[in-house]
Amino acid sequence: MKKLFFVALLSAGLTSCFDTQTATVSKNTAKAAEQQPVVSVPVFNQDSAFYYVKKQCDFGPRVPNTANHEECLNFLAKELTRLGGSVSLQKADLRGYDGTIYKSTNIIAAFYPERENRVVLFSHWDSRPLSDQEDGTEKTALKKPVMGANDGASGVGVLLEAARNFAANDPKIGVDIVLFDTEDCGAPRWKQSQVENDWCLGSQYWSKNTGYTAANKPKVGILLDMVGGANPSFCIDAVSGYYAPTFAGDFWKVANGMGFGSFFKNVNGGQIVDDHYYVNTLAGIPTFDVIDFDTERGFPEMWHTQHDDVEHIDRNTLGMVGRVLLRYIYTNCAK
Ligand SMILES: [Zn+2]
Repeated sequence: MKKLFFVALLSAGLTSCFDTQTATVSKNTAKAAEQQPVVSVPVFNQDSAFYYVKKQCDFGPRVPNTANHEECLNFLAKELTRLGGSVSLQKADLRGYDGTIYKSTNIIAAFYPERENRVVLFSHWDSRPLSDQEDGTEKTALKKPVMGANDGASGVGVLLEAARNFAANDPKIGVDIVLFDTEDCGAPRWKQSQVENDWCLGSQYWSKNTGYTAANKPKVGILLDMVGGANPSFCIDAVSGYYAPTFAGDFWKVANGMGFGSFFKNVNGGQIVDDHYYVNTLAGIPTFDVIDFDTERGFPEMWHTQHDDVEHIDRNTLGMVGRVLLRYIYTNCAK
């Protein structure tokens, strides 16, 4: 999805919580830096990530309630199991903007499930039923589901390749991968939704039903969304900056330290709604979004059009995001 979001986020009570969080994390970081040996970060294979993006697109658009969607679900569940994850499927019937009931499945893969210290990684695996950013009429847009190579498959591709690394190289922390369904079924831009919160249906459901205990609730969540386009612009959006400022700041620092500062920009990323909004507000897990969006350009031009296809995926972008992700997890999270 992701639409502009104009609700004022700031409130005095929450601000003081984050001050405490920031202070604690900084202290721990300084202490850990003195004691920690040099950590080796496994190599992220961008061709493998690209393979996974293409593989998803080979099923066609993964629109909920279609055969393509079901086939891709089976593939993703099988592949995550093969890669060593303990996979569970969280199924729910979720109501869309026009009353449609979507047979929705969040795919959850736990690595090192016995560990209490955990991080959780998110992406969405469904694709949008219609191309409402395409030039054309309402009638034509409705007949054109989006392939979602970038908007959906790119984040999943990076997480599958990351999963391969988690099994082969112990990250010294438990890792959960959650692939949300039914993220992108919100109302077309010319229609009013019949329900509130018509985007991100899968993540809303998961956030109310995480199954975590106080002991194993992840300390941070990372959402990847549209991480496969050429020349991306990753900025810290308002929700990430408000709910997970220290974690997001550290992630951007890692990216900058690796020489990716021209893509991971230290500028305000604007106000959007994405799955992380619900994870933060409903599940209470501090979560930031790595998403190709900035306030000047907006979303990538292929967004919600027929051009969001494999031909417009840049495997270097997948590689960059994957490398930053692994470095962040193996160096910043495993403490
Ligand atoms: Zn979308």
